[in-house]
Amino acid sequence: MIPVQGYTGQRVAVLGLGRSGLAAARALRAGGAIPLVWDDSAEARDAAAAAGFDPHDLTRRNAFEDVAALIVSPGIPHLYPQPNPIIAAAQIAGVPVDNDIGLFFGSLATEDWDTLDQTPQVIAVTGSNGKSTTSALIHHILQHAQRPTQLAGNIGVGVLDIDPAISGEVIVLELSSYQTDLARALTPDIAVFTNLSPDHLDRHGGLGGYFAAKRRLFAEGGPDRAVIGVDEPEGRYLAGQLAQGPADDRVIRVSSGSKLDGPGWSVFARKGFLSEMRKARQIASIDLRAIRGLPGAHNHQNACAAYAATRALGLAPKVIEQAFHSFAGLPHRSQIVGEIQGVTYVNDSKATNVDSAAQALQAFGNIRWIAGGLGKDGGIAALAPHLGGVIKAYLIGHSARDFALQLGGTPYEICETMDRAVAQAATDARPGDTVLLAPAAASFDQYPNFEKRGEDFMARVAALAG
Ligand code: ADP
Repeated sequence: MIPVQGYTGQRVAVLGLGRSGLAAARALRAGGAIPLVWDDSAEARDAAAAAGFDPHDLTRRNAFEDVAALIVSPGIPHLYPQPNPIIAAAQIAGVPVDNDIGLFFGSLATEDWDTLDQTPQVIAVTGSNGKSTTSALIHHILQHAQRPTQLAGNIGVGVLDIDPAISGEVIVLELSSYQTDLARALTPDIAVFTNLSPDHLDRHGGLGGYFAAKRRLFAEGGPDRAVIGVDEPEGRYLAGQLAQGPADDRVIRVSSGSKLDGPGWSVFARKGFLSEMRKARQIASIDLRAIRGLPGAHNHQNACAAYAATRALGLAPKVIEQAFHSFAGLPHRSQIVGEIQGVTYVNDSKATNVDSAAQALQAFGNIRWIAGGLGKDGGIAALAPHLGGVIKAYLIGHSARDFALQLGGTPYEICETMDRAVAQAATDARPGDTVLLAPAAASFDQYPNFEKRGEDFMARVAALAG
Protein backbone atom coordinates (compact mmCIF):
# COMPACT_ATOMS: atom_id res chain seq x y z
CA MET A 1 0.00 0.00 0.00
CA ILE A 2 1.06 3.61 -0.62
CA PRO A 3 0.24 5.61 2.54
CA VAL A 4 -1.24 8.97 1.53
CA GLN A 5 0.95 11.94 2.40
CA GLY A 6 -0.09 15.47 3.21
CA TYR A 7 -3.27 14.91 5.24
CA THR A 8 -1.97 13.81 8.64
CA GLY A 9 -4.58 14.52 11.32
CA GLN A 10 -7.02 15.94 8.75
CA ARG A 11 -10.52 14.76 7.86
CA VAL A 12 -10.76 13.58 4.26
CA ALA A 13 -14.11 12.56 2.76
CA VAL A 14 -14.26 9.51 0.47
CA LEU A 15 -17.27 9.15 -1.84
CA GLY A 16 -17.86 5.77 -3.51
CA LEU A 17 -16.80 2.64 -1.68
CA GLY A 18 -15.91 0.23 -4.45
CA ARG A 19 -12.41 -1.11 -4.90
CA SER A 20 -10.67 2.24 -5.41
CA GLY A 21 -12.70 4.04 -2.70
CA LEU A 22 -11.90 1.48 -0.03
CA ALA A 23 -8.25 1.41 -1.08
CA ALA A 24 -8.18 5.22 -0.78
CA ALA A 25 -9.72 5.04 2.70
CA ARG A 26 -7.12 2.48 3.83
CA ALA A 27 -4.22 4.46 2.34
CA LEU A 28 -5.49 7.70 3.91
CA ARG A 29 -5.72 6.05 7.31
CA ALA A 30 -2.24 4.55 6.88
CA GLY A 31 -0.94 8.07 6.21
CA GLY A 32 -2.53 9.41 9.41
CA ALA A 33 -5.64 11.06 7.91
CA ILE A 34 -9.18 10.54 9.22
CA PRO A 35 -11.26 9.10 6.33
CA LEU A 36 -14.99 9.94 6.31
CA VAL A 37 -16.47 7.32 3.99
CA TRP A 38 -19.82 7.36 2.19
CA ASP A 39 -21.65 5.59 -0.63
CA ASP A 40 -25.26 6.03 -1.77
CA SER A 41 -25.71 2.27 -1.65
CA ALA A 42 -26.43 0.75 1.78
CA GLU A 43 -24.77 -2.46 0.63
CA ALA A 44 -21.48 -0.67 -0.10
CA ARG A 45 -21.69 1.13 3.26
CA ASP A 46 -22.14 -2.22 5.02
CA ALA A 47 -19.12 -3.62 3.19
CA ALA A 48 -17.08 -0.57 4.29
CA ALA A 49 -18.24 -1.00 7.89
CA ALA A 50 -17.17 -4.65 7.73
CA ALA A 51 -13.77 -3.44 6.50
CA GLY A 52 -13.47 -1.20 9.59
CA PHE A 53 -14.75 2.15 8.23
CA ASP A 54 -17.86 3.62 9.86
CA PRO A 55 -19.92 5.44 7.23
CA HIS A 56 -20.18 9.20 7.62
CA ASP A 57 -23.24 10.74 5.98
CA LEU A 58 -21.94 13.18 3.35
CA THR A 59 -25.48 14.15 2.28
CA ARG A 60 -26.04 16.01 5.58
CA ARG A 61 -26.07 19.80 5.69
CA ASN A 62 -22.62 21.20 6.46
CA ALA A 63 -21.09 17.79 5.82
CA PHE A 64 -18.00 19.50 4.42
CA GLU A 65 -17.21 21.66 7.41
CA ASP A 66 -13.65 21.01 8.53
CA VAL A 67 -12.98 18.59 5.64
CA ALA A 68 -9.63 18.93 3.84
CA ALA A 69 -10.53 17.16 0.58
CA LEU A 70 -13.13 14.96 -1.11
CA ILE A 71 -11.85 11.83 -2.87
CA VAL A 72 -14.26 10.40 -5.45
CA SER A 73 -14.49 7.16 -7.41
CA PRO A 74 -14.25 7.25 -11.22
CA GLY A 75 -17.84 6.07 -11.77
CA ILE A 76 -19.38 9.15 -10.11
CA PRO A 77 -19.96 12.19 -12.39
CA HIS A 78 -18.28 15.34 -11.10
CA LEU A 79 -19.40 17.69 -13.89
CA TYR A 80 -21.37 16.15 -16.78
CA PRO A 81 -24.12 15.18 -17.41
CA GLN A 82 -24.52 16.84 -13.99
CA PRO A 83 -22.41 16.78 -10.85
CA ASN A 84 -23.32 14.26 -8.19
CA PRO A 85 -25.03 16.31 -5.39
CA ILE A 86 -22.35 15.43 -2.84
CA ILE A 87 -19.57 16.57 -5.18
CA ALA A 88 -21.57 19.72 -5.94
CA ALA A 89 -21.82 20.42 -2.18
CA ALA A 90 -18.05 20.04 -1.80
CA GLN A 91 -17.49 22.41 -4.71
CA ILE A 92 -19.80 25.01 -3.15
CA ALA A 93 -17.99 24.61 0.18
CA GLY A 94 -14.67 25.17 -1.62
CA VAL A 95 -13.32 21.74 -0.68
CA PRO A 96 -10.75 20.37 -3.17
CA VAL A 97 -12.01 17.35 -5.10
CA ASP A 98 -9.44 14.69 -6.03
CA ASN A 99 -9.20 10.97 -6.73
CA ASP A 100 -6.94 8.03 -5.95
CA ILE A 101 -4.67 8.88 -8.90
CA GLY A 102 -4.04 12.39 -7.56
CA LEU A 103 -3.32 10.95 -4.10
CA PHE A 104 -0.98 8.39 -5.66
CA PHE A 105 1.13 10.93 -7.54
CA GLY A 106 1.29 13.09 -4.43
CA SER A 107 2.41 10.17 -2.24
CA LEU A 108 4.59 7.79 -4.28
CA ALA A 109 7.92 9.52 -3.65
CA THR A 110 9.09 9.23 -0.04
CA GLU A 111 12.07 10.60 1.88
CA ASP A 112 13.96 7.33 1.63
CA TRP A 113 14.05 7.63 -2.18
CA ASP A 114 17.23 9.64 -1.50
CA THR A 115 18.91 6.39 -0.49
CA LEU A 116 17.90 4.43 -3.62
CA ASP A 117 20.48 3.75 -6.33
CA GLN A 118 17.97 4.33 -9.10
CA THR A 119 14.87 6.51 -8.72
CA PRO A 120 11.61 4.66 -9.48
CA GLN A 121 9.70 5.81 -12.54
CA VAL A 122 6.06 5.89 -13.62
CA ILE A 123 4.74 5.18 -17.12
CA ALA A 124 1.09 6.20 -17.53
CA VAL A 125 -1.00 5.06 -20.49
CA THR A 126 -4.20 6.73 -21.70
CA GLY A 127 -6.24 6.78 -24.94
CA SER A 128 -9.60 5.52 -26.18
CA ASN A 129 -8.60 1.98 -27.14
CA GLY A 130 -5.64 -0.25 -26.46
CA LYS A 131 -4.83 1.11 -22.98
CA SER A 132 -5.02 -2.25 -21.23
CA THR A 133 -3.15 -4.12 -23.95
CA THR A 134 -0.43 -1.46 -24.13
CA SER A 135 -0.03 -1.25 -20.34
CA ALA A 136 0.07 -5.04 -19.96
CA LEU A 137 2.57 -5.29 -22.79
CA ILE A 138 4.89 -2.65 -21.27
CA HIS A 139 4.70 -4.50 -17.96
CA HIS A 140 5.44 -7.80 -19.69
CA ILE A 141 8.47 -6.35 -21.54
CA LEU A 142 9.86 -4.99 -18.26
CA GLN A 143 9.36 -8.36 -16.55
CA HIS A 144 11.10 -10.05 -19.46
CA ALA A 145 13.98 -7.58 -19.09
CA GLN A 146 14.06 -8.43 -15.36
CA ARG A 147 13.29 -4.90 -14.28
CA PRO A 148 11.23 -4.58 -11.09
CA THR A 149 7.75 -3.47 -12.17
CA GLN A 150 4.14 -3.24 -11.00
CA LEU A 151 0.98 -2.80 -13.08
CA ALA A 152 -1.93 -0.82 -11.63
CA GLY A 153 -4.79 1.62 -12.31
CA ASN A 154 -7.72 0.63 -14.46
CA ILE A 155 -6.08 -2.77 -14.84
CA GLY A 156 -4.78 -5.05 -12.10
CA VAL A 157 -4.71 -3.53 -8.64
CA GLY A 158 -5.79 -0.02 -7.63
CA VAL A 159 -2.94 2.52 -7.65
CA LEU A 160 -2.87 2.95 -3.88
CA ASP A 161 -2.76 -0.81 -3.36
CA ILE A 162 0.66 -1.32 -4.95
CA ASP A 163 3.76 -1.92 -2.83
CA PRO A 164 6.03 1.08 -2.18
CA ALA A 165 8.40 1.41 -5.15
CA ILE A 166 11.89 -0.07 -4.89
CA SER A 167 15.13 1.04 -6.53
CA GLY A 168 14.91 1.02 -10.35
CA GLU A 169 11.26 0.00 -10.34
CA VAL A 170 8.89 1.06 -13.11
CA ILE A 171 5.24 1.48 -12.15
CA VAL A 172 2.94 1.08 -15.19
CA LEU A 173 -0.48 2.73 -14.87
CA GLU A 174 -3.48 2.44 -17.13
CA LEU A 175 -5.54 5.60 -16.73
CA SER A 176 -9.05 6.26 -18.04
CA SER A 177 -10.37 9.69 -19.00
CA TYR A 178 -12.46 9.77 -15.80
CA GLN A 179 -9.29 9.34 -13.79
CA THR A 180 -7.15 11.89 -15.63
CA ASP A 181 -9.99 14.43 -15.66
CA LEU A 182 -10.07 14.82 -11.90
CA ALA A 183 -6.62 13.95 -10.53
CA ARG A 184 -5.00 17.02 -8.93
CA ALA A 185 -1.48 15.65 -9.46
CA LEU A 186 -0.45 13.85 -12.68
CA THR A 187 3.32 13.56 -12.92
CA PRO A 188 4.37 10.43 -14.84
CA ASP A 189 7.93 10.22 -16.16
CA ILE A 190 6.66 8.79 -19.45
CA ALA A 191 3.10 9.35 -20.69
CA VAL A 192 1.50 7.39 -23.52
CA PHE A 193 -1.52 8.45 -25.63
CA THR A 194 -2.64 5.52 -27.80
CA ASN A 195 -5.43 7.02 -29.95
CA LEU A 196 -8.72 8.91 -29.75
CA SER A 197 -12.23 8.00 -30.84
CA PRO A 198 -15.54 9.13 -29.35
CA ASP A 199 -16.50 7.36 -26.10
CA HIS A 200 -18.05 8.34 -22.75
CA LEU A 201 -19.13 11.65 -24.29
CA ASP A 202 -21.95 12.19 -21.79
CA ARG A 203 -19.41 12.30 -18.95
CA HIS A 204 -17.18 14.84 -20.67
CA GLY A 205 -19.69 17.20 -22.31
CA GLY A 206 -18.62 16.07 -25.81
CA LEU A 207 -15.50 15.08 -27.72
CA GLY A 208 -13.57 18.24 -26.81
CA GLY A 209 -14.09 17.60 -23.11
CA TYR A 210 -13.08 13.97 -23.54
CA PHE A 211 -9.84 14.91 -25.29
CA ALA A 212 -9.16 17.65 -22.73
CA ALA A 213 -9.48 15.07 -19.93
CA LYS A 214 -6.87 12.83 -21.56
CA ARG A 215 -4.62 15.75 -22.42
CA ARG A 216 -4.22 16.65 -18.74
CA LEU A 217 -1.80 13.73 -18.43
CA PHE A 218 0.59 15.67 -20.65
CA ALA A 219 -0.14 19.20 -19.54
CA GLU A 220 -0.15 19.13 -15.76
CA GLY A 221 3.19 17.66 -14.78
CA GLY A 222 4.88 17.60 -18.16
CA PRO A 223 6.33 14.08 -18.59
CA ASP A 224 10.01 13.73 -19.54
CA ARG A 225 8.91 11.77 -22.59
CA ALA A 226 5.57 11.61 -24.35
CA VAL A 227 4.65 8.71 -26.63
CA ILE A 228 1.83 9.92 -28.86
CA GLY A 229 -0.29 8.05 -31.40
CA VAL A 230 -0.59 10.46 -34.34
CA ASP A 231 -3.16 8.65 -36.47
CA GLU A 232 -5.90 11.13 -35.50
CA PRO A 233 -5.91 14.94 -35.62
CA GLU A 234 -5.98 15.11 -31.81
CA GLY A 235 -2.77 13.09 -31.50
CA ARG A 236 -1.04 15.22 -34.13
CA TYR A 237 -2.16 18.35 -32.35
CA LEU A 238 -0.94 17.07 -28.99
CA ALA A 239 2.45 16.00 -30.37
CA GLY A 240 2.86 19.38 -32.07
CA GLN A 241 1.92 21.21 -28.91
CA LEU A 242 4.40 19.33 -26.72
CA ALA A 243 7.42 19.37 -29.05
CA GLN A 244 9.68 22.42 -29.32
CA GLY A 245 10.36 21.55 -32.97
CA PRO A 246 10.46 18.62 -35.40
CA ALA A 247 13.70 17.21 -33.93
CA ASP A 248 12.60 17.38 -30.27
CA ASP A 249 12.89 13.79 -29.10
CA ARG A 250 10.97 14.25 -25.87
CA VAL A 251 8.03 13.36 -28.11
CA ILE A 252 8.01 9.92 -29.74
CA ARG A 253 5.42 9.78 -32.51
CA VAL A 254 3.66 6.47 -33.14
CA SER A 255 1.55 5.33 -36.10
CA SER A 256 -0.10 2.20 -37.33
CA GLY A 257 -0.27 2.49 -41.11
CA SER A 258 1.71 5.64 -41.88
CA LYS A 259 5.43 5.97 -42.45
CA LEU A 260 6.81 8.67 -40.16
CA ASP A 261 9.96 10.36 -41.30
CA GLY A 262 11.61 13.59 -40.27
CA PRO A 263 14.40 14.40 -37.85
CA GLY A 264 12.55 13.39 -34.67
CA TRP A 265 11.97 10.07 -32.91
CA SER A 266 9.22 7.83 -34.23
CA VAL A 267 7.95 4.26 -34.21
CA PHE A 268 5.48 3.02 -36.78
CA ALA A 269 4.07 -0.24 -38.12
CA ARG A 270 3.38 -0.84 -41.81
CA LYS A 271 2.51 -4.08 -43.56
CA GLY A 272 3.28 -6.00 -40.38
CA PHE A 273 6.72 -4.51 -39.74
CA LEU A 274 7.61 -2.16 -36.89
CA SER A 275 10.27 0.46 -37.60
CA GLU A 276 12.03 2.79 -35.21
CA MET A 277 13.42 6.00 -36.74
CA ARG A 278 15.61 8.52 -35.00
CA LYS A 279 17.37 11.51 -36.54
CA ALA A 280 16.18 10.28 -39.97
CA ARG A 281 17.94 6.90 -39.53
CA GLN A 282 16.30 3.52 -39.05
CA ILE A 283 17.36 2.16 -35.67
CA ALA A 284 15.46 -1.15 -35.66
CA SER A 285 12.87 -3.22 -37.49
CA ILE A 286 10.70 -6.04 -36.11
CA ASP A 287 8.48 -8.48 -37.99
CA LEU A 288 5.18 -8.39 -36.09
CA ARG A 289 3.29 -10.79 -38.35
CA ALA A 290 4.27 -13.94 -36.51
CA ILE A 291 3.44 -12.62 -33.05
CA ARG A 292 0.36 -14.52 -31.97
CA GLY A 293 -0.47 -12.41 -28.94
CA LEU A 294 -0.70 -9.20 -31.03
CA PRO A 295 -2.88 -9.85 -34.11
CA GLY A 296 -4.08 -7.02 -36.38
CA ALA A 297 -3.14 -3.41 -37.11
CA HIS A 298 -4.67 -2.22 -33.85
CA ASN A 299 -2.36 -4.47 -31.85
CA HIS A 300 0.54 -3.32 -34.00
CA GLN A 301 -0.28 0.19 -32.82
CA ASN A 302 -0.17 -1.08 -29.21
CA ALA A 303 3.14 -2.83 -29.94
CA CYS A 304 4.60 0.43 -31.30
CA ALA A 305 3.45 2.39 -28.23
CA ALA A 306 4.85 -0.20 -25.80
CA TYR A 307 8.07 -0.39 -27.82
CA ALA A 308 8.47 3.39 -27.74
CA ALA A 309 7.81 3.61 -23.99
CA THR A 310 10.33 0.89 -23.16
CA ARG A 311 12.91 2.29 -25.62
CA ALA A 312 12.49 5.61 -23.77
CA LEU A 313 13.63 3.71 -20.66
CA GLY A 314 16.71 2.52 -22.55
CA LEU A 315 15.77 -1.11 -23.26
CA ALA A 316 17.37 -2.71 -26.32
CA PRO A 317 15.25 -3.44 -29.41
CA LYS A 318 16.22 -7.14 -29.30
CA VAL A 319 15.01 -7.54 -25.73
CA ILE A 320 11.69 -5.91 -26.60
CA GLU A 321 11.30 -8.13 -29.67
CA GLN A 322 11.86 -11.29 -27.62
CA ALA A 323 9.28 -10.11 -25.08
CA PHE A 324 6.70 -9.54 -27.86
CA HIS A 325 6.94 -13.22 -28.74
CA SER A 326 6.15 -14.38 -25.21
CA PHE A 327 3.20 -11.96 -24.73
CA ALA A 328 0.04 -14.02 -24.38
CA GLY A 329 -2.39 -11.15 -25.07
CA LEU A 330 -5.19 -10.17 -22.73
CA PRO A 331 -8.43 -12.09 -22.26
CA HIS A 332 -11.42 -10.76 -24.27
CA ARG A 333 -9.26 -8.68 -26.66
CA SER A 334 -8.81 -10.38 -30.05
CA GLN A 335 -8.11 -13.54 -28.04
CA ILE A 336 -7.89 -16.76 -30.04
CA VAL A 337 -9.83 -19.21 -27.85
CA GLY A 338 -10.15 -22.26 -30.08
CA GLU A 339 -9.37 -23.91 -33.37
CA ILE A 340 -11.92 -26.56 -34.21
CA GLN A 341 -12.03 -28.36 -37.56
CA GLY A 342 -10.10 -25.59 -39.26
CA VAL A 343 -12.30 -22.82 -37.85
CA THR A 344 -10.70 -20.19 -35.57
CA TYR A 345 -12.75 -18.79 -32.68
CA VAL A 346 -11.84 -15.29 -31.46
CA ASN A 347 -13.15 -13.61 -28.33
CA ASP A 348 -13.12 -9.80 -28.56
CA SER A 349 -15.92 -9.22 -26.06
CA LYS A 350 -14.11 -6.01 -25.04
CA ALA A 351 -15.06 -4.52 -28.43
CA THR A 352 -17.89 -2.58 -26.79
CA ASN A 353 -17.74 0.34 -29.21
CA VAL A 354 -17.73 0.67 -32.99
CA ASP A 355 -14.08 1.66 -33.22
CA SER A 356 -12.70 -1.38 -31.42
CA ALA A 357 -15.07 -3.69 -33.36
CA ALA A 358 -13.78 -2.15 -36.60
CA GLN A 359 -10.23 -3.04 -35.57
CA ALA A 360 -11.16 -6.65 -34.89
CA LEU A 361 -13.07 -6.91 -38.20
CA GLN A 362 -9.96 -5.73 -40.03
CA ALA A 363 -7.63 -8.12 -38.20
CA PHE A 364 -9.28 -11.30 -39.55
CA GLY A 365 -10.79 -12.66 -42.79
CA ASN A 366 -13.75 -14.93 -43.72
CA ILE A 367 -15.58 -13.74 -40.63
CA ARG A 368 -18.69 -15.16 -39.05
CA TRP A 369 -19.41 -12.19 -36.89
CA ILE A 370 -21.28 -12.37 -33.58
CA ALA A 371 -22.45 -8.85 -32.70
CA GLY A 372 -25.07 -6.99 -30.70
CA GLY A 373 -25.92 -6.20 -27.10
CA LEU A 374 -26.70 -2.74 -25.86
CA GLY A 375 -25.75 -0.62 -28.88
CA LYS A 376 -24.38 2.91 -28.58
CA ASP A 377 -25.62 6.09 -30.31
CA GLY A 378 -25.47 5.70 -34.08
CA GLY A 379 -25.54 1.88 -33.89
CA ILE A 380 -23.13 0.24 -36.31
CA ALA A 381 -23.56 2.59 -39.27
CA ALA A 382 -19.87 3.55 -39.05
CA LEU A 383 -18.87 -0.10 -39.54
CA ALA A 384 -20.13 -0.23 -43.14
CA PRO A 385 -16.61 0.16 -44.66
CA HIS A 386 -15.29 -2.70 -42.55
CA LEU A 387 -17.82 -5.40 -43.39
CA GLY A 388 -16.03 -6.65 -46.52
CA GLY A 389 -14.56 -9.66 -44.68
CA VAL A 390 -17.84 -10.66 -43.05
CA ILE A 391 -19.54 -13.71 -44.58
CA LYS A 392 -22.50 -13.51 -42.23
CA ALA A 393 -23.54 -11.73 -39.01
CA TYR A 394 -25.15 -13.53 -36.06
CA LEU A 395 -26.97 -10.90 -34.04
CA ILE A 396 -27.70 -11.05 -30.35
CA GLY A 397 -29.18 -8.92 -27.57
CA HIS A 398 -31.20 -5.75 -27.39
CA SER A 399 -29.78 -4.14 -30.54
CA ALA A 400 -29.98 -7.20 -32.82
CA ARG A 401 -32.78 -5.79 -34.98
CA ASP A 402 -31.33 -2.27 -35.13
CA PHE A 403 -27.98 -3.67 -36.18
CA ALA A 404 -29.66 -5.81 -38.87
CA LEU A 405 -31.05 -2.65 -40.48
CA GLN A 406 -27.54 -1.17 -40.75
CA LEU A 407 -25.80 -4.17 -42.31
CA GLY A 408 -26.41 -3.21 -45.95
CA GLY A 409 -26.15 -6.35 -48.08
CA THR A 410 -24.32 -8.48 -45.49
CA PRO A 411 -26.28 -11.69 -44.76
CA TYR A 412 -27.44 -12.01 -41.17
CA GLU A 413 -29.48 -14.05 -38.77
CA ILE A 414 -31.15 -12.83 -35.58
CA CYS A 415 -30.00 -15.33 -32.95
CA GLU A 416 -30.95 -13.39 -29.77
CA THR A 417 -28.59 -15.32 -27.47
CA MET A 418 -24.95 -16.35 -27.42
CA ASP A 419 -25.66 -20.09 -27.36
CA ARG A 420 -27.75 -19.85 -30.54
CA ALA A 421 -25.24 -17.55 -32.24
CA VAL A 422 -22.25 -19.80 -31.54
CA ALA A 423 -24.15 -22.94 -32.52
CA GLN A 424 -25.37 -21.41 -35.80
CA ALA A 425 -21.99 -19.89 -36.70
CA ALA A 426 -20.27 -23.23 -36.01
CA THR A 427 -22.79 -25.08 -38.18
CA ASP A 428 -22.32 -22.63 -41.06
CA ALA A 429 -18.51 -22.28 -40.79
CA ARG A 430 -16.09 -23.86 -43.30
CA PRO A 431 -12.37 -24.52 -42.68
CA GLY A 432 -10.47 -21.24 -42.89
CA ASP A 433 -13.33 -19.19 -41.42
CA THR A 434 -13.07 -17.17 -38.22
CA VAL A 435 -15.97 -16.99 -35.77
CA LEU A 436 -15.45 -13.58 -34.19
CA LEU A 437 -17.26 -12.20 -31.16
CA ALA A 438 -16.81 -8.41 -31.51
CA PRO A 439 -20.18 -7.06 -30.32
CA ALA A 440 -19.82 -3.29 -31.03
CA ALA A 441 -22.16 -2.89 -28.08
CA ALA A 442 -22.16 -2.94 -24.29
CA SER A 443 -23.03 -6.19 -22.56
CA PHE A 444 -25.38 -4.96 -19.86
CA ASP A 445 -28.63 -6.11 -21.50
CA GLN A 446 -27.66 -9.77 -21.09
CA TYR A 447 -24.57 -9.87 -18.85
CA PRO A 448 -23.18 -8.06 -15.79
CA ASN A 449 -20.07 -7.07 -17.79
CA PHE A 450 -18.05 -7.77 -20.95
CA GLU A 451 -15.91 -10.35 -19.13
CA LYS A 452 -18.95 -12.53 -18.39
CA ARG A 453 -20.06 -12.19 -22.02
CA GLY A 454 -16.62 -13.31 -23.21
CA GLU A 455 -16.61 -16.20 -20.75
CA ASP A 456 -20.01 -17.31 -22.01
CA PHE A 457 -18.66 -17.30 -25.57
CA MET A 458 -15.59 -19.27 -24.51
CA ALA A 459 -17.68 -21.84 -22.64
CA ARG A 460 -19.86 -22.40 -25.73
CA VAL A 461 -16.76 -22.78 -27.89
CA ALA A 462 -15.25 -25.24 -25.40
CA ALA A 463 -18.50 -27.23 -25.51
CA LEU A 464 -18.26 -27.42 -29.33
CA ALA A 465 -14.79 -28.92 -29.00
CA GLY A 466 -16.44 -31.56 -26.80
P1 ADP B 1 -8.81 -0.16 -23.34
O1 ADP B 1 -8.14 -0.54 -22.06
O2 ADP B 1 -8.36 1.18 -23.84
O3 ADP B 1 -10.28 -0.37 -23.38
P2 ADP B 1 -8.03 -2.72 -24.51
O4 ADP B 1 -6.61 -3.06 -24.73
O5 ADP B 1 -8.73 -3.31 -23.36
O6 ADP B 1 -8.15 -1.14 -24.45
O7 ADP B 1 -8.83 -3.02 -25.85
C1 ADP B 1 -10.20 -2.63 -25.93
C2 ADP B 1 -10.81 -3.03 -27.24
O8 ADP B 1 -10.21 -2.30 -28.28
C3 ADP B 1 -10.62 -4.49 -27.62
O9 ADP B 1 -11.76 -4.87 -28.33
C4 ADP B 1 -9.39 -4.50 -28.49
O10 ADP B 1 -9.35 -5.58 -29.41
C5 ADP B 1 -9.51 -3.15 -29.21
N1 ADP B 1 -8.22 -2.52 -29.37
C6 ADP B 1 -7.06 -2.84 -28.75
N2 ADP B 1 -6.08 -2.00 -29.13
C7 ADP B 1 -6.63 -1.12 -29.99
C8 ADP B 1 -6.13 0.00 -30.72
N3 ADP B 1 -4.85 0.37 -30.63
N4 ADP B 1 -7.00 0.68 -31.51
C9 ADP B 1 -8.28 0.32 -31.61
N5 ADP B 1 -8.81 -0.73 -30.96
C10 ADP B 1 -8.01 -1.45 -30.15
